[in-house]
Amino acid sequence: MTIQGVADILTAEPDQPAQTTTQTTTLARTRAILADLIAFPTESARSNLAIVDYIEAYLAREGITARRIPNADGSKASLLATIGPEGQPGVALSAHTDVVPVAGQDWSSDPWTLTEREGRLYGRGTSDMKGFLAVVLAHVPLFKQAATHTPVHLCFSYDEELGCLGAPDLVAEVAALPVPPALCIVGEPTALKVARAHKGKFARRLTITGRGGHSALLHRAANAVEAGAEITVGLGVLGRSLRGETNEAFDPPWTSVHVGSLHGGTALNLVPDHATLEFEARTLPGTDLDSLNARIALIIDEARARLLAQAPEAGIAIATLSDYPGLDTPEDSGAVRFVAALAGSNAAPVTLAFGTEAGLYARAGIPTVVCGPGDIGRAHKADEWIGLDELAQAGALMVRLAGRLGTPLAPSDFARPAFA
Ligand SMILES: [Zn+2]
Repeated sequence: MTIQGVADILTAEPDQPAQTTTQTTTLARTRAILADLIAFPTESARSNLAIVDYIEAYLAREGITARRIPNADGSKASLLATIGPEGQPGVALSAHTDVVPVAGQDWSSDPWTLTEREGRLYGRGTSDMKGFLAVVLAHVPLFKQAATHTPVHLCFSYDEELGCLGAPDLVAEVAALPVPPALCIVGEPTALKVARAHKGKFARRLTITGRGGHSALLHRAANAVEAGAEITVGLGVLGRSLRGETNEAFDPPWTSVHVGSLHGGTALNLVPDHATLEFEARTLPGTDLDSLNARIALIIDEARARLLAQAPEAGIAIATLSDYPGLDTPEDSGAVRFVAALAGSNAAPVTLAFGTEAGLYARAGIPTVVCGPGDIGRAHKADEWIGLDELAQAGALMVRLAGRLGTPLAPSDFARPAFA
């Protein structure tokens, strides 16, 4: 469906006296918007500007101005929009617009065409996380009516699937709003459970350059594979040294350091002039990242120095593959309670095995939880889907949220420590 199609549904909607009719109409609108969103093949490697155009135009039809936060080369952008009074503390709703690739996956139907089978809507990004995005957008007219005292901030990023590389600029803008949000809900798929914590992660690729030569004359060469191996051993020792500091909310309960690949060398009688190494650290929330990074830098610097002593043209280039902090919102915090009430849940909050942009918002001082429709177990696979019932339940969450927008929020209710 085109924007015009969605607009037809919006303008065709009369004021319904029966709430069930309104909910049915809103679900139909959610589905129509989701069909539009799925049709944009926003794999992280591609531009997301077409979907940004679409969302911007949709919001403009509702009289809402969105602000773009572009990336360095202008090929992608985040969107930030506020519905309601800007001078009041509000609720941020966070989603990413990018999806993981479909190449090599065996789909039963076109991943870029929303397809319904037995109450399930199939398509790339339905669970992760255009379903949440569609639910949010479908409730914009309701938010507009309801947000007399508390605003809703729409925060839509890019490059999340590359390791949260797009969100930092957006989060900085959100934190710099005249009145920052009192709370942020990241709508990653948790089956609408309230998730309060996950580890952080950073991952890097090292490109190691040495000097090639004959193995008989190795004293005139600089072995890039040996340098990679030295770094691998150093990272292993570092990782094991971190296991004394534990947090039982996580499995494993410590910060881990892991080398995932080391490639280099072509033949036994040649000194390898090139190697690549990829490693990651999965960090407990609260880890001193500066200190950890300094220890890693020391390991790399020592290997680099040994290479340089052999060959002045040698070097080690470092590329960031992903980078986001952990999340550790207290279990009994106001943020957890507020969102649990919105979700209609009295279950204990959960911790996540996967990372999200939530840690970035939390680090910026905004109490944050993760709560959205769908199942991460269906994400990143062929035949990703979300249930119409799940979209309806997320819609109910939005209706409850709208019900809170007519009174002011007190940020102290959400910040640590928990309120009674
Ligand atoms: Zn996601």
